[in-house]
Amino acid sequence: GLPPLYVVTPTYRRPEQLAELTRMAQTLLLVRHVRWLVIEDAREPAADVARLLRQSGLPHEHLTAAMPEQYRKRRGAKPKGVAQRNRGLQWLRANASEGVFYFADDDNTYDVAIFEEIRTTRRVSMFPVGLCTKLGLSTPVVSSRGTFVGFYDGWVGGRKFPVDMAGFAVSVKFLHERPKAQMPFAPGFEEDGFLRSLAPFEPKEVELKADNCTKVLVWHTQTKINGASQPLDMKKFNDTNLP
Ligand code: UDP
Ligand code: MN
Repeated sequence: GLPPLYVVTPTYRRPEQLAELTRMAQTLLLVRHVRWLVIEDAREPAADVARLLRQSGLPHEHLTAAMPEQYRKRRGAKPKGVAQRNRGLQWLRANASEGVFYFADDDNTYDVAIFEEIRTTRRVSMFPVGLCTKLGLSTPVVSSRGTFVGFYDGWVGGRKFPVDMAGFAVSVKFLHERPKAQMPFAPGFEEDGFLRSLAPFEPKEVELKADNCTKVLVWHTQTKINGASQPLDMKKFNDTNLP
């Protein structure tokens, strides 16, 4: 049959959380043979997230992996979602034998076509991500002959793989051949660090998806909350049954 697609989604507690997860769940309901790994940045799973997952009817795993305290306390950029993606890798190593996985943040926007594109990933595939950095696009650059020639991204920063988290997918079998691969707690270098940890693997070996990277099928959208100055009351955002 069709090999499974594992969608690995870090998520954390904030007023937008259930809205983001609802949108994403309803996108994934349009995808065949998908298993959603939702991994909370928390010590204990939240009951309302569990309910949302259950009621979605999607095959899923509800896991937790909290950002280590030393990073959470840090001022400035934090390694967001790293503990959870590594937890996802651990789950895949223990439970998956075939198929493809994709690191899909909860606030991005996904055309269902991207999931069909990445299904056929043999090792590592890449594709454009819209609304990414000041340039508005992060993508592999492809010659008119259809061959990979480099990367286009608003922040290169010495990275070997200057790509966005939403811009690549990896086969589970390939992950099994790279038992040490993991994501570093290095803000800005999470993607590069993970892709480097798949060595030996070179940029020129990337499988180009989305019609040779001519189509944008995923966007790095970021939700902005209305109002904002109220004290944070999760119940109010998720439930009208106010006390
Ligand atoms: N995230 C998290 N803990 C945090 C901040 C973010 O688990 O403290 C998750 C978030 O839900 C998302 C991913 O990590 O799935 C990336 O975070 P965000 O979307 O805020 O990053 P950006 O859009 O700035 O890349
Ligand atoms: Mn985001």
